[in-house]
Amino acid sequence: MTNSELQTRRLAATPRGVGVMCDFYAQRAENASLWDVEGREYIDFAAGIAVVNTGHRHPRVVAAIAAQLECFTHTAYQIVPYESVVTLAERINALVPISGPTKTAFFTTGAEAVENAIKIARAHTRRSGVIAFGGGFHGRTMMTLALTGKVAPYKVGFGPFPAEVFHVPYPEALQGVTAADSLAAIARLFKTDIEPQRVAAIILEPVQGEGGFNVAPTELMQGLRALCDQHGIVLIADEVQSGFGRTGKLFAMEHHGVEPDLITMAKSLAGGMPLSAVSGRADIMDAPAPGGLGGTYAGNPLAVAAALAVLDVIEEEKLCARSVRLGEKLTMRLLAAKESNAGIAEVRAQGSMVAVELRDAAGAPDAEAVRRVQQRAMAQGLLLLSCGMYGNVIRFLYPLTIPDALFDRALDIIDDALKA
Ligand code: PMP
Repeated sequence: MTNSELQTRRLAATPRGVGVMCDFYAQRAENASLWDVEGREYIDFAAGIAVVNTGHRHPRVVAAIAAQLECFTHTAYQIVPYESVVTLAERINALVPISGPTKTAFFTTGAEAVENAIKIARAHTRRSGVIAFGGGFHGRTMMTLALTGKVAPYKVGFGPFPAEVFHVPYPEALQGVTAADSLAAIARLFKTDIEPQRVAAIILEPVQGEGGFNVAPTELMQGLRALCDQHGIVLIADEVQSGFGRTGKLFAMEHHGVEPDLITMAKSLAGGMPLSAVSGRADIMDAPAPGGLGGTYAGNPLAVAAALAVLDVIEEEKLCARSVRLGEKLTMRLLAAKESNAGIAEVRAQGSMVAVELRDAAGAPDAEAVRRVQQRAMAQGLLLLSCGMYGNVIRFLYPLTIPDALFDRALDIIDDALKA
């Protein structure tokens, strides 16, 4: 079957709402390389949207899934539990940057983790309001769409969304928005829309993913922590994209020395298997009554086995340190390119969560330039993703296990493509 034959069948069989970026079809993938059905090789700087930080089919992950496959694939954890979930919860509890007792509940997707974090915060506070940030992305279910701070394409035609969700601007140097502006917007919200005593949670991504890899200043985290402490609000860090070594720490919140109350995680937690989690302060996590949390597939045994192996790989291969090194190397190349390329408005990075924002001669967001760069990279076999409120940001999400030689080849392609 050729790519174009599959393309014809896809368009006839699946709805256009599931937007698909590539017009080629995956055959197999290994670490940072991916081959299509016609045998063409790509360097994968998408990593399944930040899901395979440990690479495609890491041998340890594959072996863990295979071993679990020999035992059982599903019992429904809420019906017949199994040890691996308890072990994974214990390991994550010890790793999350929250002091004091912590607990972890497992789900299947990132959106589901966010949904449940809001449920837990509401059950704990017995309040309804939630504050989120412009440009944020939290998922495609109704509550997470309400929280998501970008209308097109995510929210168009799907409202009304759950009530009591309020947005404030996320700090962005290029837009002239500071942490103080964000905090002032919350103070104003408390005057114009909702009293702090009715706010259950403030949720944010420590680094906005879909929103353009904007990195939260520590000043914002400190300000939010103080507000949450003052008013008894639950601070939720959505680390679905920024987690598991991507920013050079296991969790991006570790860069700030500020503790959230709850953390959502998914994507690279299980190296390609669908698994998500909410971790947090034990007293908050225990607020919902038995039966209030869960899901038929929540904590799927194959996915949990994969996650335990992923944690081993991150530790043994020192992937956080490698994330820092690779991120620095890429950032230096991008900053060097910026010297001679007026279209590069900003290079943003925290560890290996690296992005370039492109603007035209008039300073306007240049999504067209991003498409050109993506196409030129793709023609040379490098898969790049865009992001940003205006689609004018290129994000780099290579597996942290990428071989050095392949990484260097990708850097050369990026250099060349940016000239487009
Ligand atoms: N939160 C963040 C920060 C994300 O980046 C994403 C996915 N891009 C989600 C939530 C939703 O995750 P999922 O697509 O697995 O539902």
